[in-house]
Amino acid sequence: MSREDYEIVIGLEVHAELSTKTKIFCNCSTEFGADPNTHVCPVCMAMPGTLPVLNEKVVEYAVKAGLATGCEISRDSKNDRKNYFYPDLPKSYQISQFDKPLCEHGKVEIEEDGEKKIIGITRIHIEEDAGKLNHNEFGGGSLVDLNRAGVPLIEIVSEPDMRSAKDAENYLKKIKSILEYIEVSDCKMQEGSLRADVNVSVRKKGAKEFGTRTEMKNMNSFRSIVRAIEYESERQIDVLEDGGIITQETLRWDDVSGKTFTMRDKEDAQDYRYFPEPDLVAIRLSEEYIENIKNNLPELPESRKERYLKEYNLSEKDSKMLTASKYLSNMFEQALAICGNAKAVANWLLSDVSRILNEKEIEPDQIPFTAEQLAKMIELIEKGTISSAIGKKVLEELFENPRNPEEIIKEKGWIQISDEGAIKEVVAKILQNNPQSIADFKAGKDRALGFLVGQAMKETKGKANPQMLNKMFLEELNK
Ligand code: ADP
Ligand code: ZN
Ligand code: MG
Repeated sequence: MSREDYEIVIGLEVHAELSTKTKIFCNCSTEFGADPNTHVCPVCMAMPGTLPVLNEKVVEYAVKAGLATGCEISRDSKNDRKNYFYPDLPKSYQISQFDKPLCEHGKVEIEEDGEKKIIGITRIHIEEDAGKLNHNEFGGGSLVDLNRAGVPLIEIVSEPDMRSAKDAENYLKKIKSILEYIEVSDCKMQEGSLRADVNVSVRKKGAKEFGTRTEMKNMNSFRSIVRAIEYESERQIDVLEDGGIITQETLRWDDVSGKTFTMRDKEDAQDYRYFPEPDLVAIRLSEEYIENIKNNLPELPESRKERYLKEYNLSEKDSKMLTASKYLSNMFEQALAICGNAKAVANWLLSDVSRILNEKEIEPDQIPFTAEQLAKMIELIEKGTISSAIGKKVLEELFENPRNPEEIIKEKGWIQISDEGAIKEVVAKILQNNPQSIADFKAGKDRALGFLVGQAMKETKGKANPQMLNKMFLEELNK
């Protein structure tokens, strides 16, 4: 059999840190990046005798996430203890939810090349994050930082509905986008606020049963997830083709070697001995409470996209790409409010800005410049102060060292040459050096004009006003 005879099956467990101000069971701050063990108290350090108190905001945020993903919200939910030992877990159990999660039976829609697909959401539950181990910092040991212990998480468990690495990427992008829109998580993957356990199996096409899956834990970049799924599915197919069997195990993806390694197999699979958390009361939600959250849900990516189509006359594709990221679309709206040119702002964001984001492998929320700086750059082009070729250089500068575009062009001497005399001089020089192009043009080869303009732009390092060049070359050539 060949690879094409196999189907890949993927299910994701996405963990998102909620952007509440305080932790899930105490009043400590959830702020990222503070000095180790400065956001801690007896509760999140698990001192004996302390008691958890559930942060209401956590429930609200989880319900928001559930409603935004079409889940049914449970009126009667509870917390459970998940018991396991690890040095970053001071209580030796995590307070999570086992058999009565807050949200169940949801779905999101993904799209690839115009083809839509529904990915089921099994459940969304609330739980607390663990602390963090810092390795090798002092003489090779490990130190525990409990700032993250007790930071609220939602875990969004998908059905095994994805069939390719692309599906998984699209699904995770959709989840990220929804969570950003409803403002329950900042979804900063580089800070670990959004991470996924990726479950992969393969089966012969047409088979009824799923194959045995392996699970890759704690993945936090789209690129690694795609590479890991591609590698792992190939590996499984190879094993099966060689007559072997897949063992259910937890794997570690290594970005450097591009391979997966066994972390623990099923034999060490843990029995978490779940039981109801005795120190917390049941979570009972009224119809009114749920209705109220539903009525106050912010605009979601889908409806924002529809609005862009109508209000700004943007294409379906552009509207979709802009609104996929809340950061990008907020930047679009803010820049638009300043410079007033929707098409131009959309074009810059979707072409050059997106290209640079790709090259740098960063997400829109890491764009270093402000919407105002982008708008100013566009205005400078519209006023003819700079050409769009210089605009591209200004943009690159904005990525490296963001500041007022006017300052940048002054400092770099990038102001467009629109002085008639200066343009005339350049045109004369270029014509003199390119007699062949003149002949070509006279022989009907219109492309020669483009070449001459290009040469003049090169000569002026992109600073000459292209419209003026065009006009003046034509005048000279038609003489
Ligand atoms: P656990 O809680 O032990 O990790 P679950 O049964 O809750 O196990 O499944 C976790 C995730 O694995 C879900 O996202 C689910 O869609 C996915 N999954 C389950 N079976 C398979 C399979 N055969 N192939 C791929 N993914 C799977
Ligand atoms: Zn605390
Ligand atoms: Mg799992």
